[in-house]
Amino acid sequence: MSQETINIQTRRLKAQIPVANYIANYRRSDYFLSLCCECKNYGCRYGCPPFEYDVVDKIKDYATAKIIGIQIIPKQANLPLSSAQKIMHPYIKQLRDELLQMEKQSGGLSFGFAGGCDLCGERPCARLTSEPCRHPDKVRPSLEAYGFDLSKTAQDLFHVPLVWGKNNTLPPYLMLIGALFE
Ligand code: SF4
Repeated sequence: MSQETINIQTRRLKAQIPVANYIANYRRSDYFLSLCCECKNYGCRYGCPPFEYDVVDKIKDYATAKIIGIQIIPKQANLPLSSAQKIMHPYIKQLRDELLQMEKQSGGLSFGFAGGCDLCGERPCARLTSEPCRHPDKVRPSLEAYGFDLSKTAQDLFHVPLVWGKNNTLPPYLMLIGALFE
């Protein structure tokens, strides 16, 4: 199904929380790291764990976590689950560019989205051969990769629960959640 044939409505969501509070109450690193370990991208993309530094040390001195979401609502029901990536792709790029721009202006640290990094197209990730990332200006970890609970984030801070598809069809909406720590 082409992108043009899918009628989509979007809703922007914003919240902010002190970073210390976010770390203390929204981070379940052991649980999310165990999920990451089962993913094919674990250790194979620069935005994915394991990281060569201590995650909490890297973020603990930021004051505020600005959480930004896009709720993506297809107008058609029962779209196939396989259409999710195609539907989300333009919004992933839009929000990533926006967060990187905010990062540049504020000197903070932005967070992108889970899933395989697609910035090198079909080329295997440079991490696989221990070479430097080809796009370090654009690659950022996701909040999940740092152990943050996005279900709790969405529910508590946006008052919108994350929802999952059933029987190989998309849920009523998809959600992208990124952040800027500053
Ligand atoms: S930009 Fe390329 S080298 Fe960097 S993490 Fe993504 S796939 Fe790997």
